[in-house]
Amino acid sequence: MTSVGIIGSGFGALAVAIELRRAGYTDLRLWERSEDLGGVWRDNTYPGAGCDVPSPLYSFSYEPNPGWTHRYSLQGEIHAYMRSVADKYGITPLVKFGHEVVAARWDEESSTWTVAFEGPSTGTGTSEDTVDILVSAVGQLSRPTLPGIAGVESFVGTSFHSAEWDHSFDATGKTIAVVGSGASAVQFIPHLARDAARVVVFQRSANYVLPKPDTTYKAFHKRVFEAVPFTQRIERSGVWAFTEQFSRGLDDGSRVARINKAIARWHLHRQVKDPDLRAKLTPDYPIGCKRILFSNNFYPALARDNVEVVTHAVTRVTPTGVVDTEGTQHDVDAIVYATGFDTQDFLQSIDITGVRGQKLATQWADGAHAYLGMYVPNFPNLFVTYGPNTNLGGGSIIFMLEAQARHMRQALDRLTAGDYASVEVTEEAEEAYDRDLMEKLEHSAWAHCDNWYRHRSGRITSNWPGATWPFAKATKVLEPTAFRWS
Ligand code: NAP
Repeated sequence: MTSVGIIGSGFGALAVAIELRRAGYTDLRLWERSEDLGGVWRDNTYPGAGCDVPSPLYSFSYEPNPGWTHRYSLQGEIHAYMRSVADKYGITPLVKFGHEVVAARWDEESSTWTVAFEGPSTGTGTSEDTVDILVSAVGQLSRPTLPGIAGVESFVGTSFHSAEWDHSFDATGKTIAVVGSGASAVQFIPHLARDAARVVVFQRSANYVLPKPDTTYKAFHKRVFEAVPFTQRIERSGVWAFTEQFSRGLDDGSRVARINKAIARWHLHRQVKDPDLRAKLTPDYPIGCKRILFSNNFYPALARDNVEVVTHAVTRVTPTGVVDTEGTQHDVDAIVYATGFDTQDFLQSIDITGVRGQKLATQWADGAHAYLGMYVPNFPNLFVTYGPNTNLGGGSIIFMLEAQARHMRQALDRLTAGDYASVEVTEEAEEAYDRDLMEKLEHSAWAHCDNWYRHRSGRITSNWPGATWPFAKATKVLEPTAFRWS
């Protein structure tokens, strides 16, 4: 019987576990470093945390939820959805909580992975487990980071990262520095601005912001969705078709990009009347190069009298506040870092050793790359979900995760049917795939500014180019000749 170990318990892990369980694989072990499942939807609990992809699409295709209260769900509802799906498909009991995977080593003799853990549930020291197949589902946004900011520990007030929100912190009457203005900041700044005496937002780069076409689902919708489940399919398809068009706007000079830019400009002009503030909030790079944000309450929050936008980066933290690139000291009571995640080095928190002692970290020193974002030469029986070049600038990552899970299931089916012990993508297949991908990415908006999608080598390592249907097509039927089966 094939044993499968899955690192993580977020959407990627659930997608794979459910797919394999439905296909009859029973020896599944999920290892989760925390005490609850959910990945980023467990961790990101900042005020206003939610998803900027509509829930009918940001959910499993086989598990529509007639109970969403909004088109754009908040974190609590998404997390509850994940828990209920994990329960329904019998995944929750398979999760070993408090198990942080720190290393994995391929054993050529036995064609197995030996996985080492640390964590509260593993006792003292390190414990180990051995599996035939190792699936990484650690995501791309699980390690909060404070890039290039010195002196963080010296601050005497309250400070925390947006992904590690301190819910004991009361913003009332405080002066708060917010460092960063990306997808997370845009969601919590309106809440802080409402409660705090003053909020100083350090915006290194302005972002394009589009209106968020949110709506509240009424009891009537719920009744229709439950009585005629097909209506949810129609809604999902409509949202998918919309996001596919949206993704086309992430290519160089596309017509959709021009339309999106015009809408973003209109949104800014409509919501911000002060020309100085407008100028500060006008991006100076092609639309789509950084993630396009959706918000109806971000600009009005920035336009409040108690909010100041400083268009400089923070370089240093002092005991009483922050220092910006102009050398100006800003004294504050609290600092919230909305500075994003360590996205440069995929899977580097785990020491992964493949054939002939090859380290994944070494192989990916110039940026991660993998066949279909899932399979890596020299690392047999290692499947990576939400791996290199599978993140989206628009659209639902869950669509991508389902496609990946289906492909992994096919690999497993072929392994077991052919009585093979290992499957490894060939270098030729991976290189050809990567060449083609890199050519497509040259025409993407992401090539034209600094963003978290690019590795320091310059290579775009995070994102899939364009619409999602070509990925679904590429992963629909496994191409056996791309792999060595032994
Ligand atoms: P992020 O997009 O990486 O944003 C980090 C922000 O911090 C940027 O504005 C960055 O400026 C700024 N920054 C970094 N160092 C700074 C410094 N020293 N001084 C001033 N500013 C600094 O991080 P995020 O907002 O947490 O979002 C990360 C990703 O998570 C998103 O792109 C998205 O994929 C995902 N996310 C999704 C949702 C959703 O609704 N689906 C919500 C939240 C997050 P620069 O732009 O100049 O680098």
